[in-house]
Parts: sequence; structure tokens; C-alpha cells
Amino acid sequence: MYSEKLELLIDGVWRQGSGGAGEDLINPATGEAIARLPHASEADLDEALAASAKGFKVWKAMTAIERFAILDKAADLIEARKAEIARTLTMENGKALAEAIGEVQFSADATRWYAEEGKRTYGRIVPARVAGVRQMVFKEPVGPVAAFAAWNFPASNVIRKIAGALGAGCSIIIKPAEETPGTAIAFGRCFQEAGLPAGVLNIVFGEPATVSTHLLSSPIPRKVSLTGSTAVGKLLQKLAADTLKRCTMELGGHSPVIIHPDADIEKTLDTIVAFKFRNAGQVCTSPTRFYVHESLYERFIDGFAVRTRKLKIGNGLDEGTQMGPMIARRRLDAMDAFVTDAKAKGAKIVTGGERMGNVGYFYAPTLLKNVPDDARIMKEEPFGPIAPTTTFSTFDEVIERANSLPYGLASFVFTQSGSLAKKTEMALEAGMVGVNHMMVSTAETPFGGVNESGYGSESGIEGIEAYLRTKFVTEL
Ligand code: NAD
Repeated sequence: MYSEKLELLIDGVWRQGSGGAGEDLINPATGEAIARLPHASEADLDEALAASAKGFKVWKAMTAIERFAILDKAADLIEARKAEIARTLTMENGKALAEAIGEVQFSADATRWYAEEGKRTYGRIVPARVAGVRQMVFKEPVGPVAAFAAWNFPASNVIRKIAGALGAGCSIIIKPAEETPGTAIAFGRCFQEAGLPAGVLNIVFGEPATVSTHLLSSPIPRKVSLTGSTAVGKLLQKLAADTLKRCTMELGGHSPVIIHPDADIEKTLDTIVAFKFRNAGQVCTSPTRFYVHESLYERFIDGFAVRTRKLKIGNGLDEGTQMGPMIARRRLDAMDAFVTDAKAKGAKIVTGGERMGNVGYFYAPTLLKNVPDDARIMKEEPFGPIAPTTTFSTFDEVIERANSLPYGLASFVFTQSGSLAKKTEMALEAGMVGVNHMMVSTAETPFGGVNESGYGSESGIEGIEAYLRTKFVTEL
């Protein structure tokens, strides 16, 4: 049973939308509607805007220690409700329950990190040129925030924005993805119960383009934070331009994976197969293009295929499931199109390459061999359980191919040589580089991309800096 009650949170009140509009929430493992999600009307959005302006004044006026106490309590509540929130997450997103539990734990950790970091938004004193003058640099919260998040990490995508904004002293209106609303709502209840003042956190849903246009054309939000596709990032940045709002853009990726000839091939395969199919490949930092040194390629393909065929696919709530469904039926068509195109250009399907069953949105974990660089899947973000692979022979060649796309989110390198690792790390155009492992996301370290993967980081000290502005005061 799906237990979360789907509501909007506006000015501290949980409620339905005033216009009566809404949509069904679908469980991707079954294709069935499991709840009804209310949409905010334009009048509701105006109330949320006014509430965020009012909430900002109250929250900003509180001391960092008072804010810490509330956020720390919210983190405890998230952790205490981990099992129940993770079930909600799996029912709306499809991912394996173990992954959902990990994501909710990350959310409690990130909330604590930002709660703590809010106490350390230090300014500085700069020695003056004139006797008697005191020069002070202050960090202030930037103002109310408008945030939008993708469905692939229903917990961590929203918590990085909520906890980041609140930790810095900002209020926030967040529109989580309509596909995965219950996780964000469950978090909202934790913050409210922890004592967050009304209007500091507002949660709305609706038709995405209408909501974003409405919120961003208002002068009230001073900051926009998006986790989503590059196409939507460009749209929102244009909308933000009219009132010159600051932006953080966490956008799409197409991570290259370079496997050098001296890599420990068995360990490398264990790592990459597990990461490739996490959340059915619907991960912005998912290992996407595999460049394998030609001397290792046949062993790589055999080992990848053996491991892939052993994966247990099914409903994320079932014991032992390692990979769940894709988010929506339309994504199955997208996977078929990538595979058909790659095949037509000369690639070979080693395993997978087709839909599974006719209940829910399952696609077989797929391994493609000898995929040419001009195949669509080598250039466009697949966001699914397909691993296209190819060979390389020299360092310069593989770096040029790895850096050839406009994206620059994560990159991965496998080698046992320290000097080769260093040379590769330095040469890659990416916001994050993983060497011999793929865990690029923690509460304490900056997460973000370069080029068309966006700009600005979440998590780490950079994550709180994104919600702060600088004021210089000089006093005689
Ligand atoms: P999306 O861009 O379609 O939607 C992201 C969010 O923006 C959703 O809440 C959506 O409703 C909202 N939105 C606001 N205005 C919109 C408009 N005018 N049109 C459409 N949506 C609008 O992305 P998605 O398909 O939900 O998510 C997948 C994408 O997110 C992938 O490209 C993935 O790489 C990216 N992503 C990036 C990161 C990161 O940190 N860099 C993390 C997760 C996902």
C-alpha cells in the first residue's frame, strides 16, 4: 500500500489545490495508479510566493544556532522514518528498496551537514588602508529560492535544495517531480514537525512549464536551483534572466569510463556493472560510454555479460531485486530507438536489447559491443540500462573522444598506475572524476558539472555558498 497523502504545502498548511486540478501517480513497476496528486493553481502559486517572502524574513532573523536546532531535529525525523519513506520512494520511482533506503539515509546526512554548516557561514575582516576604518565582509542568505527537481533521485535531489537553502537562512518553494511527489512530501512533514516556521518551506506541483514560468516571472525568488535536463536548464535560465536571479544548474551528463590496459579487470567489472544498472541507469552520473583498451576488450565484454545476465530484475519492493523498472512507458520506446540506431550503425547486442514482460516498464539490462562514435547513444544521454562499449588504443585518442561531447558531469578512470591516473584526471573535462571507484556523491563533497552539464555545486561548502551573497561594510 502506498501510504503517503499527497498534498501541497503552502504557508505551513497542508492542503489540496484550489483549482481542483491534478494527475494520477503511477507505480512504474505495475503501471497502476496508486494515488492522486493535486496541482497548484496560479492563485496557490501566488500564495506560495507571498509565503516564501514572509517566511524568509522570519527565518533570516533567527540565529544560526536556532536554525540548526530545527534542521538537526528534521534530520533525526527523516532517519527515524527511513524505512517508511524508502517504501514510498520505491513505489513511485521503481528503484530497488535497498537503494531507496540508502538515498533516504543520504538525505538525513545531508540535512545534518547543512544544519551544521549553517553555523559556519563566516565572513572576514580586511585590514583597512585608513586609520580607524573597519572593513567587514558578511555572508547573507540570498533570499527566497525557487527550486525544481528531477524524479530519478526523489529524495536526494530535493533534500540538497531544501537543506542547502534552509541551512543558509533562505526560504524555498520547491516543485519536486510530479512522478515522485510523496518522498518530498514526507520530508516536508519532518521539517514542519521539527518546528520550521510557516512559509519557510513550500511544496507545489503542477504542469511543469506553467509552474516554472509563474514562479520565475515573479521578483520574489532571488535564486533558482534546478536538477534536470540540459534542455530545461536552458529554458529556466532564460526565464531567470528577466529578474536577474542567480542560478545553480545541475543538468544532464554522459559520463565516459576509461579502462586503461593495466586496470584490475575483475574488480573494475564488479564496480561498473553494479553502477551501470543502479536505478535502471537513470542516474545523471551513470557510467555511460565505455572506452576499453583494445588489449582487454574481449575479457571485458565476457565479464560484463556474465555479471549482467545474473542481475535480478523486478519490483523494487521484492526481496533481492537489483534493478527495477524505468520511470515511464515512453522511456521504453526511447531505449528501443537507441538500440535500433546503434545496430543499424554496426553495433552488436551482446545481451538484452529488449523490453521485459508486459506489466510495468521494464527494460532488459543491455550490453552493446563495437558501438561507433556516431551512434546516437554515444552522443545523447540514454538515461537507461544500456551500456555502449568500444575500444581505444592510445591515451591522446581516448582523451579526445572522452572530451568530445558538450556535457561535463562525471568521468571515470580505471588503472593501477598512479601516474596514469593523475594524467587522466587532469585531462578530463568534467566536474567530478572517479578513479577506480564511482561514488562521487557525498554530503560533504561538491557535486556538479561543467559546460552543458551546468554550473554551481551542491553539497560540501560549495553547496551552502550557492545560497549566500556577499555584503561589504566599511565603518569609520
Ligand atoms: P527535466 O528537465 O524534464 O525535469 C526536471 C525538473 O524540472 C522537474 O521537476 C520538471 O517538472 C521541472 N521543470 C520545470 N520547468 C519545466 C519545463 N518548462 N519543462 C519541463 N520540465 C520543467 O528532467 P527529468 O527528465 O525529470 O530528469 C532527468 C534529467 O535530469 C537528466 O538529464 C539527468 O541527467 C538530470 N539530472 C541531473 C542531475 C545533476 O545533479 N546534474 C541529477 C539528477 C538528474
